[in-house]
Amino acid sequence: MSSLPAPRFIGTLEWAERNLRVGDGAFRAADFPWLGPIAREVDRRRGCTFGLMFPPQVFKTLFLQMRALRNIAVEPGRQLFYCLNGKDAADLADEKLCPLRDSVPAVMAHFPHDPDARGGKQIWKAIDAPFSLLGAENRNHRNSRSGRTIYLDEPWQFEPGWIPEIIARSDSYQWQRQIILATTAPSVDDEVDVLWRTSSQMNWHVVCLHCRERVPLEFGEPDSPGGIKWDSDEHTREPDGSWKIEVAKLTARWHCPACHQVTLYDPKTLRELNDPARGAGYVQGNPAPDPQVHFWRGNAFLMRDWRQLVGEWLAACNAKRRGSLEATEDFYRKKRVESWDPMKVTRRTNDLPVGDYDLGDPWADEGKMADGAPMRFLWVDVQRDHFWAVARQWSPNAQSRLLHFERLWEGSQIEALRNRLGIPPNHVVLDEAYNADLVHQICTAYHFLCANGVSARAFPHHDGVRRIFGEPRTIDPFLGRSNQGMQWCVGFHYASEGAKDRLDTLRQARSADGKPLWTIARNAPSEYVEQAYAEAKIRKRHPKNNGWFYEWKKLRPDNHAFDMECGQVISASMCGLLTATSTAESEE
Ligand SMILES: [Zn+2]
Repeated sequence: MSSLPAPRFIGTLEWAERNLRVGDGAFRAADFPWLGPIAREVDRRRGCTFGLMFPPQVFKTLFLQMRALRNIAVEPGRQLFYCLNGKDAADLADEKLCPLRDSVPAVMAHFPHDPDARGGKQIWKAIDAPFSLLGAENRNHRNSRSGRTIYLDEPWQFEPGWIPEIIARSDSYQWQRQIILATTAPSVDDEVDVLWRTSSQMNWHVVCLHCRERVPLEFGEPDSPGGIKWDSDEHTREPDGSWKIEVAKLTARWHCPACHQVTLYDPKTLRELNDPARGAGYVQGNPAPDPQVHFWRGNAFLMRDWRQLVGEWLAACNAKRRGSLEATEDFYRKKRVESWDPMKVTRRTNDLPVGDYDLGDPWADEGKMADGAPMRFLWVDVQRDHFWAVARQWSPNAQSRLLHFERLWEGSQIEALRNRLGIPPNHVVLDEAYNADLVHQICTAYHFLCANGVSARAFPHHDGVRRIFGEPRTIDPFLGRSNQGMQWCVGFHYASEGAKDRLDTLRQARSADGKPLWTIARNAPSEYVEQAYAEAKIRKRHPKNNGWFYEWKKLRPDNHAFDMECGQVISASMCGLLTATSTAESEE
Protein backbone atom coordinates (compact mmCIF):
# COMPACT_ATOMS: atom_id res chain seq x y z
CA MET A 1 0.00 0.00 0.00
CA SER A 2 1.28 3.43 -0.86
CA SER A 3 -1.18 5.57 1.07
CA LEU A 4 1.51 7.08 3.29
CA PRO A 5 2.26 10.70 2.44
CA ALA A 6 4.94 11.01 -0.21
CA PRO A 7 8.28 11.66 1.45
CA ARG A 8 9.23 14.21 -1.20
CA PHE A 9 7.70 16.03 -4.13
CA ILE A 10 7.02 13.78 -7.12
CA GLY A 11 6.52 15.47 -10.45
CA THR A 12 3.94 14.30 -12.96
CA LEU A 13 6.31 12.62 -15.41
CA GLU A 14 8.39 10.97 -12.71
CA TRP A 15 5.20 9.63 -11.12
CA ALA A 16 3.91 8.45 -14.51
CA GLU A 17 7.18 6.62 -15.28
CA ARG A 18 6.93 4.77 -11.98
CA ASN A 19 3.24 3.95 -12.17
CA LEU A 20 1.75 4.03 -15.65
CA ARG A 21 1.77 1.50 -18.43
CA VAL A 22 0.78 2.91 -21.80
CA GLY A 23 0.15 0.55 -24.68
CA ASP A 24 2.45 -2.43 -24.19
CA GLY A 25 5.09 -0.89 -21.97
CA ALA A 26 5.89 1.46 -19.13
CA PHE A 27 5.41 5.14 -19.89
CA ARG A 28 8.76 6.64 -20.90
CA ALA A 29 9.02 10.42 -20.69
CA ALA A 30 11.91 10.35 -23.17
CA ASP A 31 9.46 9.26 -25.90
CA PHE A 32 7.71 12.62 -25.50
CA PRO A 33 10.41 15.32 -25.50
CA TRP A 34 7.70 18.01 -25.87
CA LEU A 35 6.15 17.08 -22.50
CA GLY A 36 9.11 17.61 -20.15
CA PRO A 37 9.11 21.43 -19.97
CA ILE A 38 5.30 21.47 -19.78
CA ALA A 39 5.16 19.04 -16.87
CA ARG A 40 7.83 20.99 -14.96
CA GLU A 41 5.83 24.24 -15.18
CA VAL A 42 2.51 22.58 -14.32
CA ASP A 43 4.18 20.86 -11.35
CA ARG A 44 5.46 24.08 -9.85
CA ARG A 45 2.91 26.83 -10.64
CA ARG A 46 -0.45 27.52 -8.99
CA GLY A 47 -3.21 29.98 -9.82
CA CYS A 48 -2.53 29.56 -13.55
CA THR A 49 -4.17 28.56 -16.80
CA PHE A 50 -2.15 26.14 -18.92
CA GLY A 51 -2.74 25.25 -22.53
CA LEU A 52 -1.31 22.35 -24.53
CA MET A 53 -1.92 23.04 -28.22
CA PHE A 54 -0.88 20.01 -30.25
CA PRO A 55 -2.30 17.70 -32.93
CA PRO A 56 -4.94 15.15 -31.92
CA GLN A 57 -3.92 11.68 -30.75
CA VAL A 58 -0.42 12.53 -29.60
CA PHE A 59 -0.03 13.07 -25.89
CA LYS A 60 -2.12 15.99 -24.73
CA THR A 61 -5.09 14.03 -23.36
CA LEU A 62 -2.64 11.49 -21.98
CA PHE A 63 -1.00 14.31 -20.05
CA LEU A 64 -4.34 15.40 -18.58
CA GLN A 65 -5.02 11.81 -17.53
CA MET A 66 -1.63 11.24 -15.92
CA ARG A 67 -1.87 14.57 -14.11
CA ALA A 68 -5.34 13.68 -12.79
CA LEU A 69 -4.26 10.22 -11.59
CA ARG A 70 -1.03 11.55 -10.11
CA ASN A 71 -3.01 14.15 -8.17
CA ILE A 72 -5.32 11.50 -6.72
CA ALA A 73 -2.29 9.53 -5.56
CA VAL A 74 0.04 12.33 -4.47
CA GLU A 75 -1.74 15.66 -4.11
CA PRO A 76 -5.47 15.03 -3.50
CA GLY A 77 -7.94 17.81 -4.28
CA ARG A 78 -11.23 18.26 -6.03
CA GLN A 79 -10.81 17.71 -9.80
CA LEU A 80 -13.17 18.32 -12.74
CA PHE A 81 -12.47 16.90 -16.19
CA TYR A 82 -14.58 18.44 -18.99
CA CYS A 83 -15.10 16.84 -22.37
CA LEU A 84 -17.34 18.42 -25.01
CA ASN A 85 -20.41 16.42 -23.98
CA GLY A 86 -21.60 13.52 -21.87
CA LYS A 87 -20.97 10.98 -24.60
CA ASP A 88 -17.35 12.05 -25.06
CA ALA A 89 -16.90 11.92 -21.28
CA ALA A 90 -18.40 8.42 -21.10
CA ASP A 91 -16.20 7.24 -23.99
CA LEU A 92 -13.07 8.63 -22.37
CA ALA A 93 -14.02 6.95 -19.08
CA ASP A 94 -14.74 3.59 -20.72
CA GLU A 95 -11.88 3.43 -23.16
CA LYS A 96 -9.04 5.19 -21.44
CA LEU A 97 -9.35 6.75 -18.04
CA CYS A 98 -11.02 4.00 -15.99
CA PRO A 99 -8.84 1.16 -17.35
CA LEU A 100 -5.77 3.31 -16.72
CA ARG A 101 -6.90 4.15 -13.17
CA ASP A 102 -7.73 0.53 -12.35
CA SER A 103 -4.25 -0.52 -13.47
CA VAL A 104 -2.44 1.73 -10.99
CA PRO A 105 -2.33 0.39 -7.40
CA ALA A 106 -1.04 3.74 -6.12
CA VAL A 107 -4.29 5.35 -7.32
CA MET A 108 -6.65 2.56 -6.30
CA ALA A 109 -5.25 2.77 -2.75
CA HIS A 110 -7.05 6.10 -2.50
CA PHE A 111 -10.48 4.55 -3.13
CA PRO A 112 -12.72 2.85 -0.55
CA HIS A 113 -12.13 -0.87 -0.18
CA ASP A 114 -15.77 -1.58 -1.00
CA PRO A 115 -16.18 -1.34 -4.82
CA ASP A 116 -19.81 -0.20 -4.39
CA ALA A 117 -18.61 2.88 -2.50
CA ARG A 118 -16.19 3.98 -5.22
CA GLY A 119 -18.77 5.83 -7.32
CA GLY A 120 -19.49 5.31 -11.02
CA LYS A 121 -17.30 5.71 -14.06
CA GLN A 122 -17.80 9.46 -14.22
CA ILE A 123 -18.01 10.43 -10.56
CA TRP A 124 -15.13 8.88 -8.66
CA LYS A 125 -15.51 8.87 -4.89
CA ALA A 126 -11.85 8.83 -3.97
CA ILE A 127 -11.35 8.99 -0.21
CA ASP A 128 -9.64 12.38 -0.07
CA ALA A 129 -11.49 14.30 -2.79
CA PRO A 130 -13.87 13.46 -5.63
CA PHE A 131 -13.03 13.40 -9.33
CA SER A 132 -15.77 14.18 -11.89
CA LEU A 133 -15.85 13.60 -15.64
CA LEU A 134 -18.30 16.11 -17.11
CA GLY A 135 -19.81 17.32 -20.36
CA ALA A 136 -19.23 21.03 -21.02
CA GLU A 137 -22.40 21.04 -23.14
CA ASN A 138 -24.40 20.44 -19.95
CA ARG A 139 -25.23 23.78 -18.37
CA ASN A 140 -25.82 22.20 -14.95
CA HIS A 141 -22.32 20.75 -15.05
CA ARG A 142 -20.82 24.10 -16.02
CA ASN A 143 -22.61 25.98 -13.28
CA SER A 144 -22.80 23.68 -10.31
CA ARG A 145 -19.33 22.21 -9.98
CA SER A 146 -16.25 23.72 -8.52
CA GLY A 147 -12.79 22.25 -8.45
CA ARG A 148 -9.17 22.99 -7.67
CA THR A 149 -7.90 21.39 -10.86
CA ILE A 150 -9.97 21.75 -13.99
CA TYR A 151 -9.16 19.89 -17.18
CA LEU A 152 -10.67 20.95 -20.51
CA ASP A 153 -10.30 18.36 -23.27
CA GLU A 154 -10.45 19.84 -26.83
CA PRO A 155 -12.11 23.11 -25.70
CA TRP A 156 -11.77 24.58 -29.22
CA GLN A 157 -15.11 22.82 -29.77
CA PHE A 158 -16.82 24.57 -26.82
CA GLU A 159 -19.44 27.22 -27.49
CA PRO A 160 -18.60 30.84 -26.65
CA GLY A 161 -19.13 31.55 -22.96
CA TRP A 162 -18.61 28.01 -21.66
CA ILE A 163 -14.99 28.42 -20.61
CA PRO A 164 -15.56 31.63 -18.58
CA GLU A 165 -18.60 29.98 -16.98
CA ILE A 166 -16.60 26.91 -15.98
CA ILE A 167 -13.69 28.95 -14.69
CA ALA A 168 -15.90 31.34 -12.72
CA ARG A 169 -17.20 28.41 -10.67
CA SER A 170 -13.73 27.77 -9.27
CA ASP A 171 -12.99 31.35 -8.26
CA SER A 172 -12.88 30.31 -4.60
CA TYR A 173 -9.77 28.32 -5.54
CA GLN A 174 -8.30 31.25 -7.45
CA TRP A 175 -4.81 31.22 -5.90
CA GLN A 176 -4.25 27.49 -5.84
CA ARG A 177 -6.26 26.30 -8.81
CA GLN A 178 -4.94 25.00 -12.11
CA ILE A 179 -6.89 25.08 -15.33
CA ILE A 180 -5.34 22.83 -17.96
CA LEU A 181 -6.53 22.89 -21.57
CA ALA A 182 -5.53 20.23 -24.08
CA THR A 183 -6.60 21.41 -27.49
CA THR A 184 -5.99 21.48 -31.21
CA ALA A 185 -5.98 24.92 -32.77
CA PRO A 186 -9.15 26.99 -32.26
CA SER A 187 -10.91 29.39 -34.60
CA VAL A 188 -9.37 32.82 -34.76
CA ASP A 189 -10.78 35.16 -32.09
CA ASP A 190 -12.63 32.52 -30.10
CA GLU A 191 -11.97 32.09 -26.37
CA VAL A 192 -9.15 29.56 -26.69
CA ASP A 193 -7.48 31.75 -29.33
CA VAL A 194 -7.70 34.79 -27.05
CA LEU A 195 -6.11 32.77 -24.23
CA TRP A 196 -3.35 31.62 -26.59
CA ARG A 197 -2.64 35.18 -27.70
CA THR A 198 -2.37 36.49 -24.13
CA SER A 199 -0.21 33.52 -23.13
CA SER A 200 3.54 33.01 -23.20
CA GLN A 201 3.13 31.28 -26.63
CA MET A 202 5.87 28.72 -26.12
CA ASN A 203 6.60 27.28 -29.57
CA TRP A 204 8.64 24.11 -29.98
CA HIS A 205 11.89 24.66 -31.91
CA VAL A 206 14.09 21.94 -33.37
CA VAL A 207 17.85 22.11 -33.88
CA CYS A 208 18.96 22.01 -37.52
CA LEU A 209 21.30 19.11 -38.34
CA HIS A 210 23.33 21.33 -40.66
CA CYS A 211 23.76 24.70 -38.95
CA ARG A 212 22.74 23.69 -35.40
CA GLU A 213 20.52 26.75 -35.07
CA ARG A 214 17.41 26.42 -32.95
CA VAL A 215 14.57 27.07 -35.42
CA PRO A 216 10.85 26.36 -35.83
CA LEU A 217 9.87 23.43 -38.08
CA GLU A 218 6.79 24.81 -39.76
CA PHE A 219 4.82 24.42 -42.94
CA GLY A 220 6.43 26.51 -45.71
CA GLU A 221 4.59 29.56 -46.93
CA PRO A 222 4.82 30.06 -50.72
CA ASP A 223 6.82 33.28 -50.31
CA SER A 224 9.23 32.13 -47.60
CA PRO A 225 12.47 30.23 -48.29
CA GLY A 226 12.15 28.05 -45.16
CA GLY A 227 9.75 25.35 -44.04
CA ILE A 228 8.23 22.16 -45.44
CA LYS A 229 8.27 22.37 -49.26
CA TRP A 230 7.58 20.11 -52.25
CA ASP A 231 7.94 20.29 -56.02
CA SER A 232 5.41 22.18 -58.07
CA ASP A 233 6.00 21.39 -61.76
CA GLU A 234 4.63 19.36 -64.65
CA HIS A 235 5.53 16.12 -62.87
CA THR A 236 3.55 16.93 -59.75
CA ARG A 237 0.56 18.78 -61.25
CA GLU A 238 -2.13 17.90 -63.72
CA PRO A 239 -2.59 20.20 -66.73
CA ASP A 240 -5.55 21.83 -64.93
CA GLY A 241 -3.31 22.71 -61.98
CA SER A 242 -4.59 20.12 -59.51
CA TRP A 243 -2.01 18.03 -57.65
CA LYS A 244 -0.78 14.54 -58.49
CA ILE A 245 -0.72 13.71 -54.83
CA GLU A 246 1.16 10.40 -54.87
CA VAL A 247 4.00 11.91 -56.94
CA ALA A 248 4.13 15.32 -55.32
CA LYS A 249 4.17 14.13 -51.70
CA LEU A 250 7.35 12.11 -52.28
CA THR A 251 9.23 15.36 -52.98
CA ALA A 252 8.45 16.71 -49.48
CA ARG A 253 11.45 18.05 -47.56
CA TRP A 254 12.30 20.65 -44.97
CA HIS A 255 14.32 23.79 -45.70
CA CYS A 256 15.91 25.16 -42.54
CA PRO A 257 14.79 28.78 -42.17
CA ALA A 258 18.29 29.73 -40.92
CA CYS A 259 20.70 28.02 -43.37
CA HIS A 260 18.15 27.00 -46.07
CA GLN A 261 19.75 23.53 -46.29
CA VAL A 262 17.50 20.62 -47.05
CA THR A 263 16.61 17.82 -44.64
CA LEU A 264 14.68 14.73 -45.75
CA TYR A 265 12.32 12.88 -43.45
CA ASP A 266 13.16 9.71 -41.66
CA PRO A 267 12.15 8.73 -38.14
CA LYS A 268 15.70 8.88 -36.79
CA THR A 269 16.28 12.35 -38.27
CA LEU A 270 13.06 13.59 -36.70
CA ARG A 271 14.13 12.26 -33.29
CA GLU A 272 17.47 14.05 -33.61
CA LEU A 273 15.84 17.31 -34.65
CA ASN A 274 13.59 17.13 -31.58
CA ASP A 275 16.28 16.02 -29.13
CA PRO A 276 16.39 18.30 -26.06
CA ALA A 277 19.99 17.13 -25.47
CA ARG A 278 20.90 18.83 -28.77
CA GLY A 279 19.11 22.01 -27.67
CA ALA A 280 15.58 21.47 -28.97
CA GLY A 281 12.95 23.11 -26.80
CA TYR A 282 10.36 25.84 -26.45
CA VAL A 283 10.93 29.45 -27.43
CA GLN A 284 8.64 32.10 -26.02
CA GLY A 285 6.70 33.87 -28.76
CA ASN A 286 4.98 36.57 -26.72
CA PRO A 287 7.37 39.11 -25.14
CA ALA A 288 4.66 40.47 -22.82
CA PRO A 289 2.45 37.57 -21.73
CA ASP A 290 -0.12 37.41 -18.97
CA PRO A 291 2.07 35.83 -16.25
CA GLN A 292 -0.76 33.47 -15.30
CA VAL A 293 -1.41 32.04 -18.77
CA HIS A 294 1.06 29.51 -20.15
CA PHE A 295 0.60 27.82 -23.52
CA TRP A 296 2.80 25.37 -25.36
CA ARG A 297 2.38 24.61 -29.03
CA GLY A 298 3.76 22.10 -31.51
CA ASN A 299 2.57 20.94 -34.95
CA ALA A 300 2.22 17.53 -36.57
CA PHE A 301 5.45 17.95 -38.59
CA LEU A 302 7.39 17.50 -35.34
CA MET A 303 5.87 14.07 -34.85
CA ARG A 304 4.86 12.54 -38.19
CA ASP A 305 6.11 11.66 -41.67
CA TRP A 306 6.29 14.88 -43.69
CA ARG A 307 5.47 13.09 -46.97
CA GLN A 308 2.19 11.82 -45.56
CA LEU A 309 1.29 15.24 -44.18
CA VAL A 310 2.09 16.97 -47.48
CA GLY A 311 -0.12 14.37 -49.19
CA GLU A 312 -2.96 15.33 -46.85
CA TRP A 313 -2.41 19.01 -47.58
CA LEU A 314 -2.43 18.49 -51.35
CA ALA A 315 -5.65 16.49 -51.09
CA ALA A 316 -7.11 19.45 -49.19
CA CYS A 317 -5.87 21.80 -51.96
CA ASN A 318 -7.54 19.65 -54.61
CA ALA A 319 -10.78 19.65 -52.59
CA LYS A 320 -10.59 23.42 -52.24
CA ARG A 321 -10.40 23.77 -56.02
CA ARG A 322 -13.74 22.00 -56.12
CA GLY A 323 -15.21 24.41 -53.58
CA SER A 324 -14.78 22.49 -50.32
CA LEU A 325 -12.84 24.09 -47.49
CA GLU A 326 -13.35 21.43 -44.84
CA ALA A 327 -10.10 19.54 -45.38
CA THR A 328 -8.18 22.82 -45.47
CA GLU A 329 -9.69 23.83 -42.14
CA ASP A 330 -8.86 20.46 -40.67
CA PHE A 331 -5.24 20.74 -41.82
CA TYR A 332 -4.82 24.20 -40.27
CA ARG A 333 -6.31 23.14 -36.95
CA LYS A 334 -4.91 19.66 -36.53
CA LYS A 335 -1.68 19.49 -38.58
CA ARG A 336 -0.31 23.01 -38.73
CA VAL A 337 -1.92 23.67 -35.32
CA GLU A 338 -2.59 27.29 -36.22
CA SER A 339 -5.74 29.20 -35.38
CA TRP A 340 -8.21 28.75 -38.21
CA ASP A 341 -9.11 31.90 -40.11
CA PRO A 342 -11.10 31.24 -43.29
CA MET A 343 -10.15 34.73 -44.51
CA LYS A 344 -6.57 33.48 -44.87
CA VAL A 345 -7.52 31.05 -47.60
CA THR A 346 -10.68 32.45 -49.18
CA ARG A 347 -9.44 35.90 -50.03
CA ARG A 348 -6.12 36.93 -51.47
CA THR A 349 -5.54 40.54 -52.43
CA ASN A 350 -4.36 39.61 -55.91
CA ASP A 351 -7.66 37.81 -56.53
CA LEU A 352 -9.67 41.01 -56.06
CA PRO A 353 -11.26 42.44 -59.21
CA VAL A 354 -9.46 45.77 -59.08
CA GLY A 355 -10.29 48.12 -61.97
CA ASP A 356 -7.89 50.68 -63.49
CA TYR A 357 -9.55 53.67 -61.82
CA ASP A 358 -9.69 55.55 -58.54
CA LEU A 359 -12.82 56.34 -56.52
CA GLY A 360 -14.80 59.11 -58.22
CA ASP A 361 -12.92 59.05 -61.56
CA PRO A 362 -15.20 60.02 -64.47
CA TRP A 363 -16.55 57.02 -66.38
CA ALA A 364 -17.77 57.36 -69.95
CA ASP A 365 -19.55 53.98 -69.99
CA GLU A 366 -21.96 54.78 -67.15
CA GLY A 367 -25.58 54.15 -68.17
CA LYS A 368 -28.54 56.51 -68.05
CA MET A 369 -32.06 55.80 -66.84
CA ALA A 370 -35.11 56.54 -69.02
CA ASP A 371 -35.46 59.87 -67.21
CA GLY A 372 -31.83 60.78 -67.89
CA ALA A 373 -30.59 60.13 -64.36
CA PRO A 374 -27.20 58.42 -64.08
CA MET A 375 -27.18 54.70 -63.25
CA ARG A 376 -25.61 55.07 -59.86
CA PHE A 377 -27.00 53.99 -56.51
CA LEU A 378 -26.25 54.65 -52.88
CA TRP A 379 -27.01 51.87 -50.40
CA VAL A 380 -26.77 52.64 -46.69
CA ASP A 381 -26.50 50.15 -43.83
CA VAL A 382 -27.97 51.47 -40.59
CA GLN A 383 -26.26 50.68 -37.30
CA ARG A 384 -27.10 51.84 -33.79
CA ASP A 385 -25.28 55.17 -34.00
CA HIS A 386 -23.72 55.25 -37.46
CA PHE A 387 -24.18 54.33 -41.12
CA TRP A 388 -22.10 52.58 -43.78
CA ALA A 389 -22.60 53.94 -47.30
CA VAL A 390 -21.63 52.19 -50.56
CA ALA A 391 -22.11 53.95 -53.92
CA ARG A 392 -21.68 52.11 -57.22
CA GLN A 393 -22.02 53.07 -60.89
CA TRP A 394 -23.44 50.72 -63.53
CA SER A 395 -23.20 50.49 -67.31
CA PRO A 396 -26.02 49.18 -69.56
CA ASN A 397 -24.05 45.94 -70.12
CA ALA A 398 -23.84 45.25 -66.34
CA GLN A 399 -20.28 46.47 -65.82
CA SER A 400 -19.96 48.34 -62.55
CA ARG A 401 -17.50 50.47 -60.58
CA LEU A 402 -17.18 51.29 -56.91
CA LEU A 403 -17.82 55.03 -56.58
CA HIS A 404 -17.68 55.68 -52.86
CA PHE A 405 -17.45 54.05 -49.41
CA GLU A 406 -17.80 55.94 -46.16
CA ARG A 407 -18.92 55.73 -42.57
CA LEU A 408 -21.48 58.41 -41.70
CA TRP A 409 -22.94 59.52 -38.40
CA GLU A 410 -26.20 61.36 -39.19
CA GLY A 411 -29.08 61.20 -41.64
CA SER A 412 -28.22 64.69 -42.92
CA GLN A 413 -24.76 63.43 -43.95
CA ILE A 414 -26.41 60.82 -46.20
CA GLU A 415 -28.30 63.62 -47.95
CA ALA A 416 -25.11 65.70 -48.27
CA LEU A 417 -23.23 62.72 -49.74
CA ARG A 418 -26.06 61.97 -52.18
CA ASN A 419 -25.94 65.58 -53.35
CA ARG A 420 -22.15 65.53 -53.75
CA LEU A 421 -22.20 62.28 -55.75
CA GLY A 422 -25.06 63.49 -57.99
CA ILE A 423 -27.36 60.62 -57.10
CA PRO A 424 -31.17 61.10 -57.36
CA PRO A 425 -33.02 60.66 -54.02
CA ASN A 426 -34.94 57.63 -55.29
CA HIS A 427 -31.58 55.91 -56.03
CA VAL A 428 -30.73 56.01 -52.33
CA VAL A 429 -31.78 52.93 -50.35
CA LEU A 430 -31.52 52.48 -46.58
CA ASP A 431 -31.51 48.98 -45.14
CA GLU A 432 -34.27 48.81 -42.56
CA ALA A 433 -33.18 45.55 -40.94
CA TYR A 434 -32.07 47.48 -37.89
CA ASN A 435 -33.82 50.50 -36.30
CA ALA A 436 -36.68 50.63 -38.84
CA ASP A 437 -38.29 53.67 -37.18
CA LEU A 438 -35.19 55.81 -37.71
CA VAL A 439 -34.89 54.54 -41.29
CA HIS A 440 -38.50 55.47 -42.07
CA GLN A 441 -38.04 58.94 -40.63
CA ILE A 442 -34.89 59.61 -42.66
CA CYS A 443 -36.43 58.18 -45.83
CA THR A 444 -39.54 60.30 -45.39
CA ALA A 445 -37.51 63.44 -44.79
CA TYR A 446 -35.21 63.02 -47.82
CA HIS A 447 -37.40 60.89 -50.16
CA PHE A 448 -35.06 57.91 -50.01
CA LEU A 449 -36.25 54.31 -50.39
CA CYS A 450 -35.96 51.65 -47.73
CA ALA A 451 -35.44 47.94 -48.22
CA ASN A 452 -35.51 44.76 -46.18
CA GLY A 453 -33.70 41.55 -47.11
CA VAL A 454 -35.85 38.52 -46.24
CA SER A 455 -35.48 34.78 -46.64
CA ALA A 456 -38.03 34.44 -49.50
CA ARG A 457 -36.76 33.20 -52.87
CA ALA A 458 -38.85 35.53 -55.08
CA PHE A 459 -41.84 37.88 -54.94
CA PRO A 460 -44.95 37.90 -57.18
CA HIS A 461 -45.57 41.10 -59.17
CA HIS A 462 -48.74 42.46 -60.83
CA ASP A 463 -47.57 41.30 -64.26
CA GLY A 464 -47.51 37.72 -62.99
CA VAL A 465 -43.72 37.49 -62.97
CA ARG A 466 -41.87 36.54 -59.80
CA ARG A 467 -38.80 38.65 -59.16
CA ILE A 468 -35.92 38.71 -56.70
CA PHE A 469 -37.35 41.96 -55.26
CA GLY A 470 -40.92 42.78 -54.21
CA GLU A 471 -43.22 45.50 -55.50
CA PRO A 472 -42.91 48.85 -53.73
CA ARG A 473 -45.09 49.42 -50.70
CA THR A 474 -45.84 52.65 -48.84
CA ILE A 475 -44.86 52.84 -45.22
CA ASP A 476 -46.33 55.26 -42.69
CA PRO A 477 -43.36 56.45 -40.64
CA PHE A 478 -45.64 57.35 -37.67
CA LEU A 479 -44.00 60.69 -37.22
CA GLY A 480 -46.59 61.59 -34.60
CA ARG A 481 -47.06 65.09 -35.90
CA SER A 482 -50.15 66.95 -37.13
CA ASN A 483 -49.44 66.00 -40.71
CA GLN A 484 -49.27 62.31 -39.87
CA GLY A 485 -50.83 60.30 -42.66
CA MET A 486 -49.81 62.91 -45.24
CA GLN A 487 -46.19 61.76 -45.38
CA TRP A 488 -44.90 58.32 -46.11
CA CYS A 489 -41.87 56.56 -47.46
CA VAL A 490 -41.54 53.78 -50.01
CA GLY A 491 -39.97 50.47 -49.26
CA PHE A 492 -39.56 47.01 -50.77
CA HIS A 493 -38.46 43.52 -49.81
CA TYR A 494 -35.75 41.55 -51.55
CA ALA A 495 -34.50 37.97 -51.38
CA SER A 496 -31.30 38.17 -49.34
CA GLU A 497 -29.86 34.74 -50.28
CA GLY A 498 -30.72 35.39 -53.92
CA ALA A 499 -28.95 38.76 -53.79
CA LYS A 500 -25.83 37.14 -52.32
CA ASP A 501 -25.80 34.47 -55.01
CA ARG A 502 -26.26 37.06 -57.72
CA LEU A 503 -23.41 39.19 -56.33
CA ASP A 504 -21.22 36.09 -56.19
CA THR A 505 -21.92 35.22 -59.81
CA LEU A 506 -21.42 38.80 -60.92
CA ARG A 507 -18.07 39.06 -59.15
CA GLN A 508 -16.82 36.07 -61.13
CA ALA A 509 -18.26 37.20 -64.47
CA ARG A 510 -15.91 38.41 -67.22
CA SER A 511 -16.57 40.49 -70.30
CA ALA A 512 -15.63 39.19 -73.77
CA ASP A 513 -12.13 40.69 -73.42
CA GLY A 514 -11.60 38.82 -70.13
CA LYS A 515 -11.94 41.80 -67.81
CA PRO A 516 -14.07 41.53 -64.66
CA LEU A 517 -17.51 43.11 -64.97
CA TRP A 518 -17.76 43.97 -61.30
CA THR A 519 -14.77 45.92 -60.02
CA ILE A 520 -13.50 47.89 -57.07
CA ALA A 521 -11.37 51.03 -57.27
CA ARG A 522 -7.57 50.85 -56.99
CA ASN A 523 -7.74 53.04 -53.89
CA ALA A 524 -10.72 51.32 -52.26
CA PRO A 525 -10.21 51.60 -48.47
CA SER A 526 -8.97 48.43 -46.77
CA GLU A 527 -11.99 48.61 -44.45
CA TYR A 528 -14.21 48.36 -47.53
CA VAL A 529 -12.33 45.33 -48.82
CA GLU A 530 -12.51 43.59 -45.44
CA GLN A 531 -16.24 44.24 -45.19
CA ALA A 532 -17.08 43.53 -48.82
CA TYR A 533 -15.47 40.08 -48.58
CA ALA A 534 -16.73 39.32 -45.08
CA GLU A 535 -18.98 36.50 -46.34
CA ALA A 536 -18.01 33.56 -48.49
CA LYS A 537 -19.92 30.76 -50.13
CA ILE A 538 -18.66 27.49 -48.79
CA ARG A 539 -19.36 23.98 -49.94
CA LYS A 540 -20.28 21.59 -47.14
CA ARG A 541 -21.14 17.96 -46.70
CA HIS A 542 -24.71 17.44 -45.53
CA PRO A 543 -24.53 15.63 -42.18
CA LYS A 544 -27.53 13.40 -42.95
CA ASN A 545 -27.62 12.47 -46.62
CA ASN A 546 -23.91 13.16 -47.22
CA GLY A 547 -24.69 15.26 -50.31
CA TRP A 548 -23.06 18.62 -50.98
CA PHE A 549 -24.66 21.96 -50.35
CA TYR A 550 -23.54 25.57 -50.40
CA GLU A 551 -23.83 27.91 -47.49
CA TRP A 552 -23.01 31.56 -47.04
CA LYS A 553 -20.67 31.89 -44.12
CA LYS A 554 -19.89 35.07 -42.24
CA LEU A 555 -16.12 35.27 -41.91
CA ARG A 556 -16.02 38.60 -40.14
CA PRO A 557 -18.66 40.36 -38.00
CA ASP A 558 -18.51 43.68 -39.92
CA ASN A 559 -20.10 42.66 -43.22
CA HIS A 560 -21.87 45.97 -43.98
CA ALA A 561 -20.21 46.65 -47.34
CA PHE A 562 -21.04 43.08 -48.39
CA ASP A 563 -24.72 43.63 -47.55
CA MET A 564 -24.78 46.95 -49.37
CA GLU A 565 -23.13 45.44 -52.47
CA CYS A 566 -25.92 42.83 -52.41
CA GLY A 567 -28.30 45.80 -52.35
CA GLN A 568 -26.52 47.32 -55.34
CA VAL A 569 -27.18 44.09 -57.22
CA ILE A 570 -30.87 44.46 -56.36
CA SER A 571 -30.95 48.03 -57.72
CA ALA A 572 -29.23 46.86 -60.90
CA SER A 573 -31.76 44.03 -61.16
CA MET A 574 -34.62 46.54 -60.79
CA CYS A 575 -33.19 48.44 -63.79
CA GLY A 576 -33.19 45.21 -65.78
CA LEU A 577 -29.38 45.18 -66.00
CA LEU A 578 -29.01 41.68 -64.62
CA THR A 579 -31.93 40.15 -66.54
CA ALA A 580 -33.75 39.92 -63.26
CA THR A 581 -37.05 38.53 -64.46
CA SER A 582 -35.71 35.68 -66.54
CA THR A 583 -33.42 34.54 -63.73
CA ALA A 584 -36.17 34.83 -61.16
CA GLU A 585 -38.52 32.83 -63.33
CA SER A 586 -36.01 30.08 -63.84
CA GLU A 587 -35.43 29.99 -60.09
CA GLU A 588 -39.03 28.99 -59.48
ZN1 LIG B 1 20.05 25.15 -40.62
